[in-house]
Amino acid sequence: MTTPPEIKGWCPGALRPMMSGDGLVVRIRPFGGRLRRAQVDGLATLAAAHGNGLIDLSSRGNIQIRGVREDSHPKLIDGLARMGLVDETPEIESRRNMLVTPFWLTGDSTERFTAELTAALSAEDAPRIPHKFGFAVDTGREPVLQTASADIRLERDAGGGFILLADGLPAGKPVTSDSMVSEALALAHWFVAHRGAHNRMAALLASGQRLPAGFFVPRQRQSYQPKPGFTPLGAMVGLAFGQLQVETLASLAKHGGLRMTPWRMLLVESARQLPEIEDLITDPDDPLLRIVACTGAPRCPQGFIETRPIARQLAPHLSDGQFLHVSGCAKGCAHPRPAPLTVTGTPDGLNLIENGHASDAPARENLTLQDLTKAI
Ligand code: SF4
Repeated sequence: MTTPPEIKGWCPGALRPMMSGDGLVVRIRPFGGRLRRAQVDGLATLAAAHGNGLIDLSSRGNIQIRGVREDSHPKLIDGLARMGLVDETPEIESRRNMLVTPFWLTGDSTERFTAELTAALSAEDAPRIPHKFGFAVDTGREPVLQTASADIRLERDAGGGFILLADGLPAGKPVTSDSMVSEALALAHWFVAHRGAHNRMAALLASGQRLPAGFFVPRQRQSYQPKPGFTPLGAMVGLAFGQLQVETLASLAKHGGLRMTPWRMLLVESARQLPEIEDLITDPDDPLLRIVACTGAPRCPQGFIETRPIARQLAPHLSDGQFLHVSGCAKGCAHPRPAPLTVTGTPDGLNLIENGHASDAPARENLTLQDLTKAI
């Protein structure tokens, strides 16, 4: 019988890292969703000294150093603290769960909201939100973070006014730039008071809990599709499976600061040329951009398969526009939503699931890699 995957229910941080098959995973939450150039360089140096050379980008716009030894962790934290990359306590770090649109301009409303929300979540009277509960500051002219995970969203309506949204509902509350952050905190406090056993906003609202009055302004529908290429703010580059070598990070530091995204892409600030560095995806049609694969075996102790080598072998067989999720076990960490095609590792081989989660009943079981190249 297959052992059910272990659900940890919390995300690692820098101050509270998580043990994985290749050592500690130390997740850094860049303040304001941005790493200055000196921070990128310093982070690469620290990761080379204390990690195993691999760096991950998370779907919450964070960056994590893999393979850190327990006795190296204090020195790593000292180095991160010197660069202003850690919070005062693990509790504040856990609460400061924020995605920020990468398309902000210096001095604009997004930068202001992000700074105010960061300060408010660090305060003593901050709402005691659960570990995975998060915010999306998506207040550019058009929303770009609607497909990313967040519970409270800050957006603009079609007329350019600011609205506050509870995830899962199509209409928001009109707010001003002065009241935006205090209203977001009030909504977080409301969630904490009403959540019962629920950890996420959408699940609470789906259970029948009604929001307070005032959420009636229709939200804009996102048309933005993230892809590598140039933007007015710099060059967007993709990373296969959201992973990069420490040398790649060091090379990127020569080009500019980095803005984090939830799309396994980084915005290299002010870059007018796409950096030619192995690891980076610069072709918007590269099929690897359409494959999500978790860490898998051997780095994740729960993995039954080496997900990423399998994903690379399947990539050339994907048809145009097809999306594939390769999961090392039924937990489906890398894509906890249904996918058109999912390959899940089991003790007996590879299962293929159509339009479902990694844990759903397979359309075909115990396949070989060769079977899969024909089946997808
Ligand atoms: S889905 Fe992947 S990363 Fe998550 S527990 Fe399973 S093997 Fe590990």
